[in-house]
Amino acid sequence: MLSDSQISSLKWTIKKPHVNSTCIWCSACTAISGDVFEFDDDGLSCVKSLANYENRDVDDSIAACPVNAISWQEADETGKYKNGVVEHRDV
Ligand code: SF4
Repeated sequence: MLSDSQISSLKWTIKKPHVNSTCIWCSACTAISGDVFEFDDDGLSCVKSLANYENRDVDDSIAACPVNAISWQEADETGKYKNGVVEHRDV
């Protein structure tokens, strides 16, 4: 049986795209899913903070990324990645 904290953790898990350090700033993802991806000051694609990422063509961006830098990861209700995942680190 799951504890209350485990149930709460599962309840607040969202799927969030993640960009790792292999990004070569080709602009494919920002062109396809401009409401999800943007470039940071270092020129790497990063993920905007949104309540959810459904129906925003993220799968098309994943398919179009030439270096497979984008993947789906789990995040909590604040948008923070779970499982030790950190933005722009390989997972
Ligand atoms: S499609 Fe991939 S390589 Fe191109 S900007 Fe987006 S994350 Fe970077």
